[in-house]
Formats: sequence, structure tokens, C-alpha cells
Amino acid sequence: MFPTYRESERPRCPFCEEPFGRPPEAGPRSEGDFYKWLCPCGAIGAYDATGHNLGEALMEAIVFACDDDWDKALSMESEKDYEIRYLDSYRAAEHRVLGGRATPKSGLAAFVFVKLKVAKDAE
Ligand SMILES: [Zn+2]
Repeated sequence: MFPTYRESERPRCPFCEEPFGRPPEAGPRSEGDFYKWLCPCGAIGAYDATGHNLGEALMEAIVFACDDDWDKALSMESEKDYEIRYLDSYRAAEHRVLGGRATPKSGLAAFVFVKLKVAKDAE
């Protein structure tokens, strides 16, 4: 049972264009508790159900990408060590991205994606 929507409104990873599924409906249980997942392309997605805490969601995504190593995460530099891409104007009820019509007050959710530029070594 999928809603009908235009292909352009399907939520996709901003790095690899891979469509992703609906995040859990429940919002963050507490601050600093964002739903995160690993895209097949290696990017980390973080879901901000409110659309207002993207800075925190971003930080969590970076820490997640660093295997929960806060020291490493805090030493990383944007653009040098990782790339950030945003996907906003997300309407969770329809699992749909509304292109260009959202305003900061529209109450729509948003995602932030982080991709490390350096390949993670196994050791
Ligand atoms: Zn991806």
C-alpha cells in the first residue's frame, strides 16, 4: 500500500539517489535521539521529525559515521572530512518530499545526510 506520488517526490538519498523507506513514525523520544540509518552508498541519514533540530541531527549522524567515537567526530571538518546534504520539506504522513513549497514554519520534517570523504579503514 503505497501512496501515489510523482517520482520526483519520492524521498531519495541526496548522494546516490537511492529511494529510502519511511522512518519510524515516532519522533525523537528525547533530545539527541534521532533515527539514523546507513545508506547502501555509505552515507548516514538522520531524520529530524520536527525540521528544527538539523544541527543536532547532523552531529549525531557524524558521530554515528565515526562508530560513536565523539573525539574523532569532533575533530572532523566539514567539506574536508565529510560532505553534508540536506533533504527537507518532508511530509511524513505521505512519505513524500514537497519540492520548494515549504517554509520554515510549515512544520515539515527534514533529513540530513553525511558522507565521510575518507574510506573507513577496518583496522
Ligand atoms: Zn546513498
